[in-house]
Amino acid sequence: MTGSACLFCRIVRREVPATVVHEDEAMLAFRDIAPKAPVHLLVIPKKHIDGLSQLDAGDGALVARLLISVPMLARQEGLVSGYRTVINSGADGGQTVFHLHLHVLGGRPMTWPPG
Ligand code: 5GP
Ligand code: ZN
Repeated sequence: MTGSACLFCRIVRREVPATVVHEDEAMLAFRDIAPKAPVHLLVIPKKHIDGLSQLDAGDGALVARLLISVPMLARQEGLVSGYRTVINSGADGGQTVFHLHLHVLGGRPMTWPPG
């Protein structure tokens, strides 16, 4: 699913409301609608990419940007004692929205392994 029908593309275009905590020309970070921790952010590229498996070599700078934003967002959210960053990939990876996104979870101790 790309473009007009994709939920996260619709959030980028502000057709679906979201609580945005950071935006620049390449990416958006917003609060997950069903948070699994006191802080649960989703960090997405504005460009539609289905998921991690659909990245290509030309996406290197974009991926670096997404990752580098995570510690900035964690600081902004006050996650001084740590946080977890997750990318679910494909059906068995638990991906339910097929627009690449990083989860940033914090505000409580995380357990391992995840389910
Ligand atoms: P996935 O399961 O694909 O790794 O993560 C998708 C995430 O998107 C889930 O954590 C889910 O709660 C979140 N989500 C689904 N629909 C919406 C929505 O309309 N708004 C926001 N902010 N988050 C959503
Ligand atoms: Zn999309």
